[in-house]
Amino acid sequence: MASVKNVYLDNAATTAVDKRVLEDMMPYFNIEFGNASSLHQPGLDARVAVDRAQKTIADFFGCAKEEIYFTSGATESNNLAILGLMRQLMADKSGSLPHIIVSNIEHDAVLEPTKFLAAQGLAEVTYLPVNKKGLVDINQLKQAIKNNTVLVSIMYVNNEIGTIQPIGEIGAIIAELNQKRKQKIYFHSDATQALSYCDCHLANLGVDLLSFSGHKIYGPKGVGGLYIKRGVNLQPLLFGGHQQSSIRPGTYNVSGIVGLGSAINIIKDGPKRKRENQRIKKLRDNLIDMVLKGISGVSISGDLDNRTPNNANFVFQGVEGESLVLALSEKGIAVSTGSACSSGSLEPSHVLAALGLAPELAHGSLRVSLGRFNRQTDIDYFVTELTQAVKRLRKMSPL
Ligand code: PMP
Repeated sequence: MASVKNVYLDNAATTAVDKRVLEDMMPYFNIEFGNASSLHQPGLDARVAVDRAQKTIADFFGCAKEEIYFTSGATESNNLAILGLMRQLMADKSGSLPHIIVSNIEHDAVLEPTKFLAAQGLAEVTYLPVNKKGLVDINQLKQAIKNNTVLVSIMYVNNEIGTIQPIGEIGAIIAELNQKRKQKIYFHSDATQALSYCDCHLANLGVDLLSFSGHKIYGPKGVGGLYIKRGVNLQPLLFGGHQQSSIRPGTYNVSGIVGLGSAINIIKDGPKRKRENQRIKKLRDNLIDMVLKGISGVSISGDLDNRTPNNANFVFQGVEGESLVLALSEKGIAVSTGSACSSGSLEPSHVLAALGLAPELAHGSLRVSLGRFNRQTDIDYFVTELTQAVKRLRKMSPL
C-alpha cells in the first residue's frame, strides 16, 4: 500500500504550538500556577510572567505595556473593539446614528458585530467593496466617509486570500481627516493573519485599535489581545472583577498569556524572521508554479504581490472544493476550502464572491496556507496528490 504522509497546509486556520512556546508555558500550569491578582508569592510570580509577556508584546508593536489587553482570541478582540467603542460613544452623547465602515471581506468576527449593530438600529454600516484583486480602493473609502462616521475597520490581511491592505496609508488619511473633523473617526484593524508577515509597528499604521490572536502565530488557542491606544475609551462587554482596568475582567490566563508573549518574541523583527518568511515564500511560489504547470483549468484568487508569503488560493474549474479537501484528507493532507470557520455552510465564501467570482467557481476554491514547519517534500507530496485528486474528481463530476 502506498504510504500516507501527514502534511499540514492549513496554517491560516491554526498553527501548531512551537516547541519553544510550549516549553515556556509549561511551568505556568502546575508549578507557577498562581492567580496573577493574588497578593501572595505565587500570585506575584504569575503577575511577573504576565507583565513580562505584556512588555514583549508591547515592544513588538512599539507601544506602552498598558495599551495591550488580553482576551480569549481575535473574535473577542474584534467584538470588544467594535461593540466596546460603540457602547462608549453611545454613553458619551446622543446624536445622529453613528456610521461604521468595514470592508466586505472582513472575517465574520468583524462582520457579525456590525450586522448586530445595524439590526438593532444602533448604527448604520457601509460594507466597502474590494476590487477584483481583493484590495480596498482608497478613493472609495474616502468617498464612503460621512460626517457621522465614527469607525473604520479594515483587516490587515485577509484569512482566505492573504491579501494585505494598505493599513498605514488608510491610517494616515484618517489622521488627516480627523484634524479637520468634529467627530473623530476611530480606526480598527483585525491583524490576526498579519503578525508573522507584515510591519506591525503601530507608529506606521495609525490605528486606534488592533486585534491579534495566539493560535495563528504558533502560540496557544484561546488567547489573544487587543491594542487600545492610550486615550481611546471603550466600555467593557464583560462585567466581573477589576482585572485589566475592568475593560476585560476575568482571571488572567497566565499560561496562555506567557505563550502569546513567547510566540510574539519568536516573530519579532530581525534576520531570523526575514529568513523564515523568504523560505516560506519560496515554497509557496514553487507550489503555485507546480500547480499551474501541472493542472489545467486553475486560477488564483487575490493579488499576487500584496499578499502574505504563506497563502495560495486556487479555483479548480469543474471540481467541488469540499470534495477536494476530503480527497486530500484521505491522503493525510490538511488544506481548506474558503475559511475553516465557514466550512460546513453551503454558501460560497463571501470573500470570493466579493472578488466577483461566480458561485460555481467559488465552490471550487482551495486555500493552501503554509507555515514554519513545512518543507519542500510536503509541497511535492501535496502537488502529486492534488493532481490525481483533481483528475479523479473531474472524471466523476457532472459539472
Ligand atoms: N480574524 C481573522 C482574520 C481570522 O483569521 C480569525 C481566525 N480564523 C479570527 C479573526 C478569529 O480569531 P480567533 O480564532 O482567535 O477567535
